[in-house]
Amino acid sequence: MLKIATYPQPILRRTAKEVKVFDQELKDLATAMAKIMYEDDGIGLAAPQVSVSQRMLVIGAKDGKSFKAYINPEITFFSKEKCVNEEGCLSLPKIYGLVQRSKKVHVKYQDLDGKWQKEKIKDFNAIILQHEIDHLNGILFIDRVSKITQGQDLLDALKAKL
Ligand SMILES: [Zn+2]
Repeated sequence: MLKIATYPQPILRRTAKEVKVFDQELKDLATAMAKIMYEDDGIGLAAPQVSVSQRMLVIGAKDGKSFKAYINPEITFFSKEKCVNEEGCLSLPKIYGLVQRSKKVHVKYQDLDGKWQKEKIKDFNAIILQHEIDHLNGILFIDRVSKITQGQDLLDALKAKL
């Protein structure tokens, strides 16, 4: 049973490893990640957030059920045009803040069968993808935040534990 790793657990700061084996186990992991993501009202989840240090993430869909898995994702283009949005994170419950990110990105990634794919993504999904790929590199939204809008006291208490 997967459990969400919360800040400041060290797994969240590790650089995740490339996925090399595309088997049923990987598919099961993606499905389990999507399940826990939806249970916790998340819209995206990266493997390090369930204490699996592998380069994979899932992003939810509007139907609240299906998901898309991105394995070994890499952003190949960041638009100069930026946008600022309030972000939260399942690994930082009750903490929100304003983060500036590119409005459009191009990503290459492998699907669950190991096949390379390319996609152009914009707006909300582009923000989620940038947030989740950050997790694969040990980066959290609080590293990029311009202003904490909720939970500054919680964050201060967590940082004091470090
Ligand atoms: Zn997150």
